[in-house]
Amino acid sequence: MTQPNRNARVAYFSMEIGLNPLMPTYAGGLGVLAGDTIRSAADLGVPMVGVTLLHRRGYFYQRLDRTGWQSEEPVAWAVNDFAEALEPRVSVEIEGRSVQIRAWRHLVSGMSGQTVPVYLLDTDLPENSPWDRTITDFLYGGDSHYRLCQEMVLGFGGFAMLRALGHGHMFRFHLNEGHAALLVLALIEAAIGTDARNGEVPPEVIEGVREQCVFTTHTPVPAGHDQFPVELARQVLGTRRCDLAQACQHQGALNMTLLALRGSRFVNGVAMRHGEVSHSLYPGYPIHSITNGVHAVSWAAPPFQNLYDRHLPDWRNDQLSLRYAISIPGTEIWAAHREAKLVLVDEVNRETNAGFDRDVLTIGFARRATAYKRGALVFHDVERLQRLANTIGPLQFVFAGKAHPQDQAGKEMIRRIYGMRGQLSVAYLPNYDMTLARLLCAGVDVWLNTPLPPMEASGTSGMKAAMNGVPSLSVLDGWWIEGHIEGVTGWSIGDKVETCLTPAPEMEACHAAALYDKLEQKVMPCFYREREGFIDIMKHTIAINGAFFNTQRMVGQYLRNAYRLVDQAVNGA
Ligand SMILES: *Cc1c(COP(=O)(O)O)cnc(C)c1O
Repeated sequence: MTQPNRNARVAYFSMEIGLNPLMPTYAGGLGVLAGDTIRSAADLGVPMVGVTLLHRRGYFYQRLDRTGWQSEEPVAWAVNDFAEALEPRVSVEIEGRSVQIRAWRHLVSGMSGQTVPVYLLDTDLPENSPWDRTITDFLYGGDSHYRLCQEMVLGFGGFAMLRALGHGHMFRFHLNEGHAALLVLALIEAAIGTDARNGEVPPEVIEGVREQCVFTTHTPVPAGHDQFPVELARQVLGTRRCDLAQACQHQGALNMTLLALRGSRFVNGVAMRHGEVSHSLYPGYPIHSITNGVHAVSWAAPPFQNLYDRHLPDWRNDQLSLRYAISIPGTEIWAAHREAKLVLVDEVNRETNAGFDRDVLTIGFARRATAYKRGALVFHDVERLQRLANTIGPLQFVFAGKAHPQDQAGKEMIRRIYGMRGQLSVAYLPNYDMTLARLLCAGVDVWLNTPLPPMEASGTSGMKAAMNGVPSLSVLDGWWIEGHIEGVTGWSIGDKVETCLTPAPEMEACHAAALYDKLEQKVMPCFYREREGFIDIMKHTIAINGAFFNTQRMVGQYLRNAYRLVDQAVNGA
């Protein structure tokens, strides 16, 4: 194995990273995106390192009981099967205690042998108190005090660990979401020492920190942004750090988004619409857009990998060549799709006894089970769905997704979907993870997406589907505003974004009606009666959306627009 790059120039900080389907160090889209980013960075030979927490007990293992009610178990996993323990120890002061941290290294290898090391921070050391040993155990578990302690380990601990590991001179720090914002304070502290008077920071120091930091925001609603009451922040950070640059005085709170915004020269949202929405939330800050992507080779199912290898031999190195999918014969696209679909149908039947049929139009929906994603929207009018199935052709639905342990509405939604099995052909696969996502996104005929706009910052599972020629049927929100060409790459739910601008309950009825209309008039007739037209849509899905919504294109944009690493290389700086 090649050595990780000692001259790394970009440090990517993220609370979750989906490194390997068997490592429970991610919860959902944010972590999968972080993993895909690092995989593409490794492919491209970008001199990057990743920093995250170890999450020894993981994001939970989901069980569903006979009624579809979710319960959670910690994930048992053998850390040393996936990462190597490193020697250095650093410490971070939390609530006046000195908490010791070590790191585990997991290497991500790229296409041509370059690697990106990811450092997983761990406080489970005998030197620490029993409680401190648990700080890096659970991802998004515990209360806000636990969360803030974790963010101390990520921001201050991660920075100290990079120095201890010899990565002293980073050119850019990338904060993937506000969880990493305390890194800004760590950088300020490193620049002025620990004796700043009254927390005042000279403007040129802030300017220097801003020059180094890039911040990607992922949430379009203020409630989704991390905030901590000032008393809690003082208790955990200590008064000196809290006073640095008035960090804890954003309307009486420590607001991670504002801290990251103030500390970063380049800020971006994760799709065009999301960049605009974020800018309207924080009008004082210029906010750019870099639309998310997915790691093409990881998300193309084996039959599609083989198909691309035969027809587009450069596609692994150059995802622009997916554009030429337009010339792949339709029969071969269909054969590859059929192969991917059989794997899924067999798995659904084995796992749930749902009696799925390989010839039936199969619609997929899998993502975090949370209210705004509206997973049960398609069941708004069950009788209408039954009528469609009886008159045009049968339908079957496959679902998956975990609700956050404290999200009661999310759990109710799972139970509601689960309960549909008596009336329609519905399967709910438990314990959604990257392995299941691979199977689902490639194996269904149509990928359904029904978020309440403008809540879906981007969404990436539809991009995974597109890598396999699976078109989306989606509300116009997030990435779909850019990826949608009606009847060419899939279908919209609602003709225009404005059509359903009413309070949420009416919007639900409005979107449901639009969804049934589209199924009735376009999707189902196309699938059952104009198979060649359907395959044509699959082709355009790959050529237009697969070629663009990938992390190779996305990382290129970060290099040029955010890190400005390309200029540096050219200028020899
Ligand atoms: C891709 C992925 C997601 C994100 O899906 P969205 O459509 O962005 O909500 C969540 N969980 C897993 C396991 C994934 O693979």
